[in-house]
Amino acid sequence: MHITEHLQNAKGTLISLEITPPEKGHSIQGIFDTVDRLAPFSPSFINVTYHQTSIVYEEEDDVIRKVPKRKKPGTVGICAALANRYLIETVPHLICGGFDRYETEDALIDLHYLGFENLFVIRGDPPPGFKEYRPEPDGYRHASELVEQIANLNRGKYLEELDDAVPTSFCMGVAGYPEKHYESPNLAEDIQRLKEKVDRGAGYIITQMVFSARVFGEFVKRAREAGIGVPIVPGVKVITGEKQLVSIPRDFHLDLPEPLVEGIKGAASPEEAKRFGTGYAVGLCRDLLDLKVPCIHFYTMGRSGAVADVLGRLKGRGL
Ligand code: FAD
Repeated sequence: MHITEHLQNAKGTLISLEITPPEKGHSIQGIFDTVDRLAPFSPSFINVTYHQTSIVYEEEDDVIRKVPKRKKPGTVGICAALANRYLIETVPHLICGGFDRYETEDALIDLHYLGFENLFVIRGDPPPGFKEYRPEPDGYRHASELVEQIANLNRGKYLEELDDAVPTSFCMGVAGYPEKHYESPNLAEDIQRLKEKVDRGAGYIITQMVFSARVFGEFVKRAREAGIGVPIVPGVKVITGEKQLVSIPRDFHLDLPEPLVEGIKGAASPEEAKRFGTGYAVGLCRDLLDLKVPCIHFYTMGRSGAVADVLGRLKGRGL
């Protein structure tokens, strides 16, 4: 079932999860443990992130070799494993980075044959060690171009002329940034770019993590004023310790509200910091529920315990 149908048919606010594949060589069991812990809260869908290959140069016997390294492979395999094991909708992330449009078309055909109907379509960040995003030759500079390729496939239009080609039926989600994307000159321009993704075929938006319902609400208002009509789902990350006060703004280019930072810093112990962060996320979710958001998307990032704590405290309060 398309995610847009889940969102449309919902009687109240849904929840969804985002999980990251384990590092290469690790077992999938950690992912199963995460989902076992969170399945009792009935997530409507689970997104699995995609991690780009980086190219490293290694010298062996005086010869320099180009070696592709992918730290976290397995996106599609994890989606298939979760869908089979939990009978839940899974959404593989698909990125532009590292692929040309022909490789992307092959990947889309595989996903179609495997029965995937939902994709989350993003550009991808520069691979580790690179400052700027660079498309492959014949690849895409912006997610909107990938959205367009998928929308064309949904109309039976492949990269080459084919007679009686079977159309795919992919529902696409795209990323939105309530505090603007870090490369964008301002929020108004970024929202116009977001609109391009929607105009080209995206059915809903999931946002970068938000820490304030006010910031999220203002973003939705501006998106609606710009003519974006699709559902907008806030992303929520539970902060559980002081290290994240540095890593989250650094890696995701966003501001953490003062009360959250002060509360975590002022905690007398790591346990108290975790309690504070969990309580903050519960308050944030209540505020988001007051805004009648269609769904709350939890970035689990290996911290299913904290997400379970938050969801446990919200049970019976609209989630
Ligand atoms: P785009 O929509 O292409 O936008 C990127 C920048 O280009 C923005 O500043 C935008 O304003 C600008 N822009 C867009 N179109 C144009 C145009 N035509 N002309 C000029 N400027 C333009 N990354 C991963 O690598 N793997 C993942 O699995 C992953 N999952 C994510 C999930 C969510 C919910 C979110 C919010 C982000 C995720 N990311 C992931 C991160 C994402 O790849 C980065 O934020 C990336 O830098 C931008 O991706 P995008 O799809 O928003 O890009």
